[in-house]
Amino acid sequence: MTDTRKIFDAVVIGAGPGGSSAVRELLCSGRSVVQFDAESFPRVKPCAGGLTARSLHCAPYDPAPTLVGRAPAFEFSTWKGPAVRFEQTGSVLQFVYRPHFDNWLVEQNLNHTAFGFHSAEPVESIEWDGLFRVRTKQREVVGRNLVGADGAYSRVNRIFDLARPKGKATAVEVVLPNHRVGGTTERVPCFDFGYLPRGYGWVFPKADHWSVGLYTLAEGLRGVRGRLLQYILEKGLKVSGDPLDSFEAHRYPVGGYRMRRPSCPVYLVGDAAGLAEAIVGEGIYYALESGRLAGRAIASHSEPSDGLRWYYRKLRRGLLIDSYLSWRIAGVFYRDPSKWIRRLASPFLWRPFVEGYRRGASLGRCVGFAPFLLLLSLFSGSSIRTVSPPETRLDR
Ligand SMILES: Cc1cc2nc3c(=O)[nH]c(=O)nc-3n(C[C@H](O)[C@H](O)[C@H](O)COP(=O)(O)OP(=O)(O)OC[C@H]3O[C@@H](n4cnc5c(N)ncnc54)[C@H](O)[C@@H]3O)c2cc1C
Repeated sequence: MTDTRKIFDAVVIGAGPGGSSAVRELLCSGRSVVQFDAESFPRVKPCAGGLTARSLHCAPYDPAPTLVGRAPAFEFSTWKGPAVRFEQTGSVLQFVYRPHFDNWLVEQNLNHTAFGFHSAEPVESIEWDGLFRVRTKQREVVGRNLVGADGAYSRVNRIFDLARPKGKATAVEVVLPNHRVGGTTERVPCFDFGYLPRGYGWVFPKADHWSVGLYTLAEGLRGVRGRLLQYILEKGLKVSGDPLDSFEAHRYPVGGYRMRRPSCPVYLVGDAAGLAEAIVGEGIYYALESGRLAGRAIASHSEPSDGLRWYYRKLRRGLLIDSYLSWRIAGVFYRDPSKWIRRLASPFLWRPFVEGYRRGASLGRCVGFAPFLLLLSLFSGSSIRTVSPPETRLDR
């Protein structure tokens, strides 16, 4: 079907948090939008679903109805080494189940009339002749602007050759329903740095399931399935049935650095732009925030070239630097995680980050304004504190 009579203000490719955040921003400014996703929604999405305060800060809708867990504490530890636990009276980390969360974002956007969503329609070709002509097997649509939110293997980035991220992370995950898990009473989300080279293992207990996985920046690491199985056992989780039956692996770009400003109005966001941070692989915040900025750039500039300039300047001064900084910090951190975990216990180090993230600041701002944020944290009534985790952990 060809619908070339209507010209949309924007065609958005991909319905992860990046794409849906851009859609929301555009719809709120009265723009017409069509969005495509290759998968049938709700789709499977390997992701631990951890939302930091800054992700919540820039979420397009209040995600409360989709939360499947709030953690009043989390733990950073090194495998068989020191650990530090961060606690807060409220919640320090919140969780969603990504297939539901992403689907819910689309549903919220569908409450607007000037919006069309097509799932299970992979975009196959894009042409630019003063307007974008975007084709799937089922239809062709025409738009003035294009948002490339199509994730790690972005077709939009391949066509327009804009982003060259610094590196790639590998993350693998299993989702274990509560009724299949026994053997541990520990329900504090934990990051076990150094469980594998240049990476960590995580266990996130949520309301109805556990997310357990491994993250690494190491290239060509073999036997990741076996390592995950071993990790599950070593963490004391007794799983009925095959613990790996929901195993999903995914590679995604991190440490975004080089970004070319395109000559036509195409906006690359989230994983498509390689924006995820490299230390723990947080990507939802970067997707939501870059999507929001892309939407705003299109909505608030009548000249496409002004919108483009505004967006790519914002990226270069904010999220891109942030992501690149995380890549450099990851390089130093993973050389000796134990040393850094010990240092993290110092309020001079963790307070600026906790305060900054709580206020939606980027990593770069947390580093740049550390003394100021440290002071602010003392007066803001932030109830976060660090405590020593149970002795058994320190003894490992
Ligand atoms: C195992 C794992 C755990 C993670 N845990 C966390 C976490 O706890 N917290 C966190 O902040 N981040 C986490 N991340 C990172 C986070 O998942 C990503 O950074 C985030 O999903 C990026 O969002 P996005 O919108 O850019 O892309 P995506 O969410 O990947 O969405 C891209 C969409 O584009 C669609 N698409 C692709 N090609 C086409 C096409 N040709 N046509 C139409 N549609 C297309 C895809 O189907 C997909 O739905 C994790 C990643 C992994 C792999």
